[in-house]
Amino acid sequence: MFRTDVQNTGVAIVGGGLAGMATALRLQASGLSTVVFEAHGHLGGCAGYWRHKGFSFDVGATTLVDFEPGGVGAELLDSVGAPAIVGEQLPGYEAWLPDRTVTLHRDHDQWHAERLAKFGDDAYHRAFWAELDRIADVFWQASRAGIKLPMRRPADVLRNVTAVGLRHLPAARHLRETLVQAMRRHRVDHDQALKTLLGMLVEDTVHSSVERAPLINAALGITIRGAGLTRHYGGMHGFWRTLVGHYRKLGGLVRTGTRVHRVRAGFEITTSRGVTRADQVVLAVPAATARALCGDLPVARRLSRYLERDRGEMGGAVIVFLGVPEAEIGGHGLTHHQFCHDYTQPFGDGNNMFVSVSAPGDTLSAPPGHRAVMISTHTSLSAWSTLDTEGYAHRKKEIGERLINLARRAYPALGDRAVVAEVGTPRAFERYAFRPDGAVGGPHQTLRNSNQYAVPHDLGGRGLWLAGDSTWPGLGTVACVLGSRIVADGIRRERRLR
Ligand SMILES: Cc1cc2nc3c(=O)[nH]c(=O)nc-3n(C[C@H](O)[C@H](O)[C@H](O)COP(=O)(O)OP(=O)(O)OC[C@H]3O[C@@H](n4cnc5c(N)ncnc54)[C@H](O)[C@@H]3O)c2cc1C
Repeated sequence: MFRTDVQNTGVAIVGGGLAGMATALRLQASGLSTVVFEAHGHLGGCAGYWRHKGFSFDVGATTLVDFEPGGVGAELLDSVGAPAIVGEQLPGYEAWLPDRTVTLHRDHDQWHAERLAKFGDDAYHRAFWAELDRIADVFWQASRAGIKLPMRRPADVLRNVTAVGLRHLPAARHLRETLVQAMRRHRVDHDQALKTLLGMLVEDTVHSSVERAPLINAALGITIRGAGLTRHYGGMHGFWRTLVGHYRKLGGLVRTGTRVHRVRAGFEITTSRGVTRADQVVLAVPAATARALCGDLPVARRLSRYLERDRGEMGGAVIVFLGVPEAEIGGHGLTHHQFCHDYTQPFGDGNNMFVSVSAPGDTLSAPPGHRAVMISTHTSLSAWSTLDTEGYAHRKKEIGERLINLARRAYPALGDRAVVAEVGTPRAFERYAFRPDGAVGGPHQTLRNSNQYAVPHDLGGRGLWLAGDSTWPGLGTVACVLGSRIVADGIRRERRLR
């Protein structure tokens, strides 16, 4: 057995996705010595990137959420002394429904006018939107103030009451409600176009549906534009360059191409490059991976309860990466679009897909005169898991062509003279981001498994922490950053108590 070059460290972080790196940055900036073990050749995971023929494509997340001043992401950068992000702050994006387009403005007043114009200006719609806005305002504010779920001890209750604010506490009554229940209360549940748009937003942000999404989580997901969406200059490649550069400057160690195979009591960490020891460990990997790595530790048994409960709640994604001449991207001021093509069909496999185009002049994302385009859609894992080689190649080609064709509703010549045209499937997420079975984004969020029932960060017991999109509050860059704050606070508290 080789020895790693890292013989002993304060905190070992397993997984260099956003949750792992955000936690590592916070701890390193507060004076602890940290090392990040990342199985892939570079950092990023589901918020990573793929460079090819002069283009830099985002492999999963294209937009950073709430990284503008006062936001959850900005708090991370401020607290570790990292520079603010540089990129295109999206003024909004276009939703293409089967019979209309709706501009999802970031600006609240414009959005309010648009939603009344496109879905109906009556007392029912107005009351529904007002309630959604109220809930979102309270819980965005609480997120920025450090709300923490699930509550495990009396101190958590106190923390959350402070974060939500006494006068907003009545909003907590919505914790047991779903989005569709709120729509019914306001008699807007028969508005098919509205239900579809909300369903699209909810699927992309909380991995759920109008029928099953907890109302509070849905309200936050539906309003993420208001919190600010930014595509970094150079996409995720540009973002990671800045983030990792800063982490290294602080003295943090990154070990890419180093897969962790086992974490034992003590903590002894067996990696593909040898064995190392750490005082504390953060498992910033999917819950199923955390369980497999910790087979000998009590946390594996504890995680099983959650993983069994959420079996059948996992989903995958397909991405098309296109490098195209600038001329194929014309006619739109907005660079991001979301499409639903058929009200009567279920979402997924193109029916609800997101198109993200690199900003004009972003030559880190695409060579001059070209643009990088990412088209993503949800897909069921079972549709991919049983395919033989031929069936897989066929399905991959077919869905790639379908997504490009569907995106031509916005960009009619898209892909005609593509320099790059590739398709990423759940198998790619399994292979390059080490996501078990290619599942991305954590379980579909429901009343049974979210918030107070989500996987707690401290499930591992003293010294062993869980982070990432299978822990509370779930998927998304803002969620991972929020989780990293809870984990870093917990680790520092443990140290003070020693
Ligand atoms: C298609 C798609 C589009 C998305 N779009 C957006 C968006 O626009 N905005 C947004 O906010 N969010 C978006 N998301 C969600 C967001 O990307 C994820 O929730 C987030 O990046 C997850 O980060 P993580 O650190 O929890 O997990 P991961 O990104 O999966 O990171 C875990 C890391 O651990 C590594 N790893 C795994 N096993 C091991 C091991 N044994 N040893 C060492 N390393 C290991 C992996 O290689 C990986 O780098 C999107 C997701 C997808 C899939």
